Amino acid sequence: MTKSALQPTLDVSAVRNDFPILGKPLAEGRPLIYLDNGATTQKPQCVIDKVTECYENYNANVHRGVHTLGDQVTTELENARETVQNLLNTAAVEEVIFTAGTTAAINLVAHGWARKFLSAGDEILVNLMEHHANLVPWQQAAAATGATLRYLPLTPDGRLDLTRLDEVLTEKTKLVAVTGMSNVLGTINPIDELARRAHAVGAVILVDGAQSVPHQPVDVQASDIDFLAFSGHKIYGPTGIGVLYGKAALLNAMDPFLGGGNMIRYVYEDRFEPADLPAKFEAGTLPIAQAIALGTAIDYVTDLGFEAIAAQEHQLTVRAQERLAEIPGLRIFGPAPEHKGSIVSFAVEGLHSHDMGELLDRKGVEIRVGHHCTMPLHDWLQVSSTSRASFAFYNTLEEVDALAEAILYARKVFR
Ligand code: PLP
Repeated sequence: MTKSALQPTLDVSAVRNDFPILGKPLAEGRPLIYLDNGATTQKPQCVIDKVTECYENYNANVHRGVHTLGDQVTTELENARETVQNLLNTAAVEEVIFTAGTTAAINLVAHGWARKFLSAGDEILVNLMEHHANLVPWQQAAAATGATLRYLPLTPDGRLDLTRLDEVLTEKTKLVAVTGMSNVLGTINPIDELARRAHAVGAVILVDGAQSVPHQPVDVQASDIDFLAFSGHKIYGPTGIGVLYGKAALLNAMDPFLGGGNMIRYVYEDRFEPADLPAKFEAGTLPIAQAIALGTAIDYVTDLGFEAIAAQEHQLTVRAQERLAEIPGLRIFGPAPEHKGSIVSFAVEGLHSHDMGELLDRKGVEIRVGHHCTMPLHDWLQVSSTSRASFAFYNTLEEVDALAEAILYARKVFR
């Protein structure tokens, strides 16, 4: 369905009641207008309750105890893994690896896969809109293996320039590392096509789903994605937990990244045999309560429905682009709403983004300012920093209007 055909159906005021923080004003009675969802999302009561439930009722270590609590908590954790499997439609539940987040998941692949399978002459295809989490690990892997990074150019409005793909995607390419959705431009990338083109030259594709998984449905089998990473805290779940999905054949061929307890089948004095998936990549004690509550967060968003979420977020994005475009001296980065998710980054002539952030905060409008872990992108945009409003389904059109009013206020302060 095209974005413009989406009809908002969500009862936003009912949904807002699920998030205790949204009803709490900031100091001095300022309303909380939370527009920093790209950095982290707020948590519904059911997620908060689930964390408490774990510690109050079945706190124990997983996969270890031959006792009742150990069994109970292990069942809860494995249920959460199945919830992730259903969210992503993975072929097998063992393909879901719990990690500390997107960054940890990508580093796992950069160590376990790239360092084993890349060598001099091989190429990794990236692009300028990638978050440092999907860039620096490949720079490190390239330095360690002799492989090189190639960049797919962007179009002037901040989309991947697919007309240039043939120049940079060749039989030398072994990996395409690409974000599902840019955390600055909001651009939604054509993952299915990129997967097809990557596979046609024998490369694998890794998708950074940190921004896309919370906002749109993903089917790793239908899209033929080899690796996908996402973070729990950006999908209304706890911090400290994330997921790496990988095709079983790739994960089985990889070396383990971290060594320690849980990831072994047998340890001898001089060597070890790794455990089967997923334990092979889950060394040490997992963030157990966080993983279990991630399952609750996923149930919460899937109950709302991705279509309803997308419709609500799209109308917020459209309104924001319209309202901000009316502000003199304001430049919006990234493509038209039709091609993007619910992120609007901007800069106002003569107003540094840090001043913008502080002045908006006076009105209770919480946004992110800076380079958003995308320095090469900011160099390309020829700005040192930007201001970013990122919307979730619980945001309202009134909050978008408050953002526009607060920017006008900030401009006035600096005149
Ligand atoms: N990738 C993208 C596109 C992101 O926006 C972020 C976080 O902002 C990350 C990766 C890193 O996520 P985390 O810090 O949860 O590992």
